[in-house]
Amino acid sequence: MSIREYTCVVCPNGCTLKVEVKDGEKAEFVKVEGNTCKRGESWARQEVENPLRTIASSVLVSGGEFPLASVRTDSPIPLESIGKVMDDIRSITMDAPLEIGDVVIEKPAGTDCRIIVTRKVKREEKELRLTGNCITGERELLKQK
Ligand code: SF4
Repeated sequence: MSIREYTCVVCPNGCTLKVEVKDGEKAEFVKVEGNTCKRGESWARQEVENPLRTIASSVLVSGGEFPLASVRTDSPIPLESIGKVMDDIRSITMDAPLEIGDVVIEKPAGTDCRIIVTRKVKREEKELRLTGNCITGERELLKQK
C-alpha cells in the first residue's frame, strides 16, 4: 500500500486528495480523503487506475501560410498511449488549407479520439502571386504577336 497526493482538477476548488493505493503491476484505488464531493472520489479512482489526458501538438503543413497547424485530441486518451499518439501526429503532413475542427487523424494509435485542427491555415499567398505573374507574362507575349 502507498499514499498518493493529488490535486483534484474536476472543479476550481482544487481539493487536495490523499489516495490510498494498492500497489502492484496495475495500481488499485483503495480509498480517498480530502475530497469535498463524490466527483473527487471518481476522479481519484480514474487517476489511479486509468489516468486520461488530452494533448495538444502541431502537424506539418504543406503549401500553407504557416509551416505548422496546431492540433489537439477531441477527447481524453489513456496516459500510456500518449507516446504512440505523438508518433502518429509527427508522421503526417497535411495540405493547406486547413479549417478549425478539420480531422487530421481518426483513432490515432488505436485510441478512441480524433486529432483535430485548432488553428486555421490558409493556402500560401505565393502561389497566387505566381499565377498573377503567369497571366502578366502571357499578356506580354500576346502584345508582342
Ligand atoms: S473533490 Fe469535488 S469539490 Fe473538490 S475539487 Fe474535486 S470536484 Fe471539486
